[in-house]
Amino acid sequence: REEQIVHIKELIKERDVKFIVLQLADIQGTAKSITLPVNQLNKIIDNEVMFDGSSIDGFARIEESDMYLYPDLSTFVILPWKTHNGTTVARLICDVYMPDGGYFEGCPRYVLRRALEKAKEMGYSFYVGPEPEFYIFNKDEKGEPVLENNDKAGYFDMAPLDKGEDVREVISTALEGLGFEVEASHHECGPGQHEIDFKYADALSTADNIITFRYVVRKIADDLGLLASFMPKPVEGIAGSGMHLNMSLFKGDKNIFFDPDAKNQLSDEAVYFVGGLLKHAKGLTAITNPLVNSYKRLVPGYEAPVYIAWSHQNRSPLVRIPAKRGLSTRVELRNPDPACNPYLALATVLMAGLDGIENKIEPPKSVNKNIYAMDLDERLEKDIQALPMSLYEAIKELMNDDIVKDALGKHVTEKFISGKLKEWNSYREKVHKWEIDEYLRGY
Ligand code: ADP
Ligand code: MG
Ligand code: MG
Ligand code: MG
Ligand code: MG
Repeated sequence: REEQIVHIKELIKERDVKFIVLQLADIQGTAKSITLPVNQLNKIIDNEVMFDGSSIDGFARIEESDMYLYPDLSTFVILPWKTHNGTTVARLICDVYMPDGGYFEGCPRYVLRRALEKAKEMGYSFYVGPEPEFYIFNKDEKGEPVLENNDKAGYFDMAPLDKGEDVREVISTALEGLGFEVEASHHECGPGQHEIDFKYADALSTADNIITFRYVVRKIADDLGLLASFMPKPVEGIAGSGMHLNMSLFKGDKNIFFDPDAKNQLSDEAVYFVGGLLKHAKGLTAITNPLVNSYKRLVPGYEAPVYIAWSHQNRSPLVRIPAKRGLSTRVELRNPDPACNPYLALATVLMAGLDGIENKIEPPKSVNKNIYAMDLDERLEKDIQALPMSLYEAIKELMNDDIVKDALGKHVTEKFISGKLKEWNSYREKVHKWEIDEYLRGY
């Protein structure tokens, strides 16, 4: 820690950093921040920065609203762009503590830390590589986003069809400036849809990275007069945006999902981890797919999962085992979308997987066939069930899943469910265009 502090002080001096942004995430996974001039550095490092927790979504407990920001010094980074005044700004991601020095139960980063602690007790480190997708839209003369872009390209297309190539390049460069190792970026299926993949890391770093990634993508698009959106299904009739989670467990530098002598070279742990994911799939979905709109993506026909199954090749099931082995042996969960709170999502999927390992949960037989092409009888016969079809159904499943609720803890579970029920009710009360088109004249 002393070394880290010396290093940070050196960097600040060397690069003439004038401000430090302290960042945290609310229960939705939205980044919040407070900026302090660099003359407050000692106060920041000594964990003395206070804020009013009652004004942050999902934190509120008015009677004890004074909370403290403890910066995680390993997250220090100098932002690769300057402000309008030409000043240089640095960033630190924080954990939230109570005045008595205890962790705040509602801090999403704490929820993930607690799950990682449990993995550590079992001897595991958890590694995750996400594949966030997003759309880029134009803005009209008034600066309002329009659901159109000049882009007519599809999967893996190149310029001049791919209008986003330049945008992706600017984003990737900024991400590298922030210390990301960008692995690949490409045009996705939908017109104006993109994916940028960055290298997997320990789950806490990855969750931090997802928050930073969403911030950078939206900021740069905005700088360029465009709107980037991680909304799961912004345009009907074309692919929605997902965020597949690639996951593995390591012991030291060994990927324990890989077993060269086992069937498919997958260890028992890997298979049981899948068993846990599938068992808790319904209970997890409210966390991994948290918006009313998320469920418009989870429909047949767009490569988004609808049914609870796993496969070694096919891309229609919920869980896929990519062909790579050795260090890259991994389990890919395909329902999460980029609107989720990454701390809560990674904590709950990990606890589901660990439940599988602890209780040796055998997954059902893998399905190496396109499930969309099966009829109901065939699905029933193979006992292939569907994921929740609405946010409301997902909330009810969450209420019935003790593993997921324990992973979140009591405070977050209650705040999350009450917030989501409010969101659902607000949606339910509205009369939508589909209803008018479908019913107004016929009844
Ligand atoms: P896809 O074939 O599904 O499109 P991508 O190549 O887009 O996959 O993304 C793969 C992701 O998996 C990357 O983020 C990569 O860093 C990550 N990954 C590779 N090896 C591992 C591993 N052992 N554990 C977790 N993630 C991994
Ligand atoms: Mg990909
Ligand atoms: Mg790829
Ligand atoms: Mg993709
Ligand atoms: Mg993928």
